[in-house]
Amino acid sequence: MHIPMSSPDLTDAERNAVLAVLNTPHLSMGGEIKKFEQTFIDLTGLKHAIGVNSGTAGLHLCVHAAGLKPGDLVITTPFSFVASTNALLFENVTPVFVDVDPLTGNMDPALLADAVQDVSKYLPRKGVMPGAQLKAVLPIDVFGQPADMDRIGATARANHLKIIEDSCEALGATYKGRQAGTLGDYGIFAFYPNKQITTGEGGAIITDDDTGADLMRALRNQGRAPGDTWLSHTYLGYNYRLDEMSAALGATQMQRLDELLTKRDQVAGWYGERLAEIPGVEVPYVAPETTRMSWFVYVIKFDRKISRDEMARRLEARGVPVRPYFIPIHTQPYITERFGYREGDFPITEDLGARGLAVPFSGVMTEEQVEYVCKIVREEVTVA
Ligand SMILES: *Cc1c(COP(=O)(O)O)cnc(C)c1O
Repeated sequence: MHIPMSSPDLTDAERNAVLAVLNTPHLSMGGEIKKFEQTFIDLTGLKHAIGVNSGTAGLHLCVHAAGLKPGDLVITTPFSFVASTNALLFENVTPVFVDVDPLTGNMDPALLADAVQDVSKYLPRKGVMPGAQLKAVLPIDVFGQPADMDRIGATARANHLKIIEDSCEALGATYKGRQAGTLGDYGIFAFYPNKQITTGEGGAIITDDDTGADLMRALRNQGRAPGDTWLSHTYLGYNYRLDEMSAALGATQMQRLDELLTKRDQVAGWYGERLAEIPGVEVPYVAPETTRMSWFVYVIKFDRKISRDEMARRLEARGVPVRPYFIPIHTQPYITERFGYREGDFPITEDLGARGLAVPFSGVMTEEQVEYVCKIVREEVTVA
């Protein structure tokens, strides 16, 4: 049985939508991106949605909209995909890491509160500009589960810090009934093919900040402000535009969002029933404030007595693709070199990073495929 690590969920509706664009001369900045953006306004109730060509691009634009300048400090976590930290580094903004909640992998609100009281305790050993000020918080909704945003938001607001919510893994998730991405000043979604919806490559920003939205629209489009002609540029900008074929694909996927999330939830349920019974295997934890989980990846944790890497080798050898999730950001070579982090600096992140393994997951997996993966896991854990 061949089981891919992840798989998009596409129908004729998506194929026809893309083909329809190809039968027009409008392949960029036409009606499709506006239609796609509107789906995020409809979903979240926020005033602005800005389509971009990756989640990383979206994060980068939010760094500008939040007014962050070189040297500024932003509290974030090292248990994430590197893009959340990289977006800060693109602007020479300094990430200040705090450790995460051991159950969810999301930012620990108590550590955030402590870091805001005295950020000097949390600064990296090097790479910090003298006199740098704390300006923002960048929590990540890890694996499709919103961070504890009421507590994070209370701390941020009391200290006049901007909040950039990296919801690239959590489109459609809800926290106490509120949509992921709407819980800070700026929210970002991403649409790589392993995400809940896909545009091939793509991302979207949502915000209520009028000025920030205008700025991000200009920066997405080579710095052209409203009123600028094609060859006049008010700002130093980027080409972060999302093309019309991708936008049409995305708009169609967004119409199916509820169906896509329900299917992913069902697959996660099949895994949960079977894996929870295997000794030495922990299934994902869903916090009570998460009213809807938007499953991105399905990450199991092995007991500390079991070698995750050995398990990964065994599963791969038996045709089950797996991936360690995440390799902590503070242990990535370019981060270690720049900020002087050491092993042991973020013990919870490191523990999760050492024990977590993503198993094949998508909304198009069948119960037979899930059963097969679980059977192999059961057999290999027993012999480990
Ligand atoms: C997927 C993802 C992104 C953005 O990824 P792109 O590949 O640039 O679209 C950002 N942050 C997190 C946490 C992600 O998982």
